[in-house]
Amino acid sequence: MPRVLITGAAGFLGSHLCDRFIAEGMDVLGMDNLITGNMANLEHLMGNSKFTFFNNDVSNFVHVPGELDYILHFASPASPIDYLKIPIQTLKVSSLGTHNLLGLALNKKARILVASTSEVYGDPLVHPQTEEYWGNVNPVGPRGVYDEAKRFMEAMTMAYHTYHGLETRIVRIFNTYGPRMRLNDGRVLPAFIGQALRGEDLTIFGDGSQTRSFCYVDDLIEGIYRLLMVDYTKPVNIGNPHEISISEFAEEIIKLTGTTQKVVYQPLPVNDPMQRQPDISKAKEILDWEPKVIRAEGLEKTYEWFKKLPGDRLYRKEHRDFEAYKRN
Ligand code: UDP
Repeated sequence: MPRVLITGAAGFLGSHLCDRFIAEGMDVLGMDNLITGNMANLEHLMGNSKFTFFNNDVSNFVHVPGELDYILHFASPASPIDYLKIPIQTLKVSSLGTHNLLGLALNKKARILVASTSEVYGDPLVHPQTEEYWGNVNPVGPRGVYDEAKRFMEAMTMAYHTYHGLETRIVRIFNTYGPRMRLNDGRVLPAFIGQALRGEDLTIFGDGSQTRSFCYVDDLIEGIYRLLMVDYTKPVNIGNPHEISISEFAEEIIKLTGTTQKVVYQPLPVNDPMQRQPDISKAKEILDWEPKVIRAEGLEKTYEWFKKLPGDRLYRKEHRDFEAYKRN
């Protein structure tokens, strides 16, 4: 059976990937330093003979015993609050961490897929975003530590492909949601649902006219799996092109949760992209993939999961950091 290493395994996407590769019959090695990951996301895999967990920081060094067929690099903080709190680790994991994993892939003759992001497009001047667009990123803004590290990751990955002939894949992930998202990391969906559950007002940043396009996690995982299995080394957008303004999104969450709270407006964070929508023509053509889960269905499943979280998690420390973030 193929063996796959998944970094960021205890995170939102990493843990769903572990499930998917185990379901495919593969042996999964999950790695995480738990700086933003949560072992609760992997609890159901403990004791599964197809799964092994390594607590390790890939930015320092990566050693894995035995053979490896695939590596998926999904370790990285992934929300603006995290970038502010742990900017250096954010930079390191996608630069030094990527370098270590590319070296490991070379050594093991493994195929590697790295998780890039729509953030490489920055605040985009081209809409919707095609893979050919080079982006509009502020390197020294609050998102710079994430955006530039991911751009470096892509450059490094391409260099290993062209120079060493390594089998590489680059996925550019757009906004994704679903069960196991961190409740209080400041992302808009957990923010709104958390506020609704706590009986607080929903905070819209700016006037709410900025747009995002939200993809349900199962669709994203399917796209990533397909990309890993085809022979295509340039970046591919995976996301749901159905675009919505943050105001409309707040309305949907109010309806979904039945909250009687109102919407309040806060200043728009610095360099917050005004619009975002993936052009998924490439994914359609190369992977025969497109999202299947409509937002009403995905939001329902996600809300059901959030509702089952233990009450104390609603008020964790991250929530207080979130308050500080909003004031900045
Ligand atoms: N946002 C908001 N209220 C919140 C949290 C986020 O209006 O409580 C906005 C945020 O400013 C951004 C959008 O929602 O315009 C999506 O934010 P998120 O952090 O989820 O993703 P990203 O900005 O990285 O796409």
